[in-house]
Amino acid sequence: MQSPWGYPDFDGHEVVHFVNDIKTGLKAVIAVHSTHLGPGAGGVRFWHYAQDGDAIADALRLSRGMSFKNAMAGLPMGGGKAVILSDPRRTKTPDMLAAYGRAVDRLGGSYITAEDVGMNVGDLVEVSKHTKFVSGLPAAEGAVGGDPGPHTSYGVYLGVRAAVRRKLGKDSLSGLHIAIQGAGSVAGGLARLAAKDGARISVADIDQARAQKLADEVGGSAVDAAEILTLEADVLSPCALGAILTEQSIAALRVPVVAGGANNQLATREDGDRIDSRSILYAPDYVINAGGIINVASEYFGNGDEAFVKAKIEEIPGRLDTIWDESASSGLNPAAVADAMANRLIGRG
Ligand code: NAD
Repeated sequence: MQSPWGYPDFDGHEVVHFVNDIKTGLKAVIAVHSTHLGPGAGGVRFWHYAQDGDAIADALRLSRGMSFKNAMAGLPMGGGKAVILSDPRRTKTPDMLAAYGRAVDRLGGSYITAEDVGMNVGDLVEVSKHTKFVSGLPAAEGAVGGDPGPHTSYGVYLGVRAAVRRKLGKDSLSGLHIAIQGAGSVAGGLARLAAKDGARISVADIDQARAQKLADEVGGSAVDAAEILTLEADVLSPCALGAILTEQSIAALRVPVVAGGANNQLATREDGDRIDSRSILYAPDYVINAGGIINVASEYFGNGDEAFVKAKIEEIPGRLDTIWDESASSGLNPAAVADAMANRLIGRG
């Protein structure tokens, strides 16, 4: 039997919890990668995995990403992530969410949960009836809280602009073609902001109707999900799921910039070199997509208003520029530069 510590995505995680609630059928993995800077914080993903091992790998990879993301965003938080293993029909019941809330509560605050793919604010309200270690709850007008998606989108939009400025020497997205993978919360916000600047949007989702709806809204085109990664465009913005940048997909890219909100876009660390060696400018995912967690952290700690959150998100382009500068001077690819910076911040450098 394979040792759990030898699991390919295991990277010195502090604790990995396997949750099994017989009565409600809840099966979840809660991984806490690091609490060096504070409680392990990160969203919970509700997803159907073909194999249980895929869910474990996702929790391990995503929680490590959260350690890096929170550290690079300057937040007093470590990294954690949960995945709930759904059935193929994605059946989600209040009882199941209650069991998940109780499981989070038992961890005593070493993990703070929030929204991720497949979860919404209403689900988190259910979870919050059973634990206080949750953020991303509905907020009163003007207060910080609620769906982190729009904040993530805003940060990604600013990051796309920074990448375009750097790689294409353009201060505006006007007239540029942006290919967006995914038509969900993050993708939608990005598409609306970029279209407002005059960008031309192509969008793809495995849910074609969703892609078409977003395309219609922003005056763009919906393209086949199988085609989006090979579309000729100025920017590819992956805003769906992770591990989409592989040896094969990188070889087929026809864009000068990859900058998007999805977590864990690179399938392996070597893919950071592959994308760099094609002279494609890559925005490290956990740096560009930190807007949501910045909002979540501010809500959780009660330490800021909307203007504070906006100002923190507006630091993202500068952080990306620092990474790209160091990449240019060191010859290391941007993903490796970001990893090294983050590891130093969490005491592992
Ligand atoms: P979402 O559930 O609202 O949307 C995701 C969309 O991606 C769905 O419409 C889904 O059908 C689509 N999709 C899945 N696989 C696809 C594929 N192969 N091709 C095309 N489309 C596909 O999720 P979201 O909140 O918009 O999150 C998107 C990504 O951004 C995820 O990787 C998430 O982890 C990451 N992220 C989200 C936030 C946030 O605040 N919501 C923050 C940071 C990172």
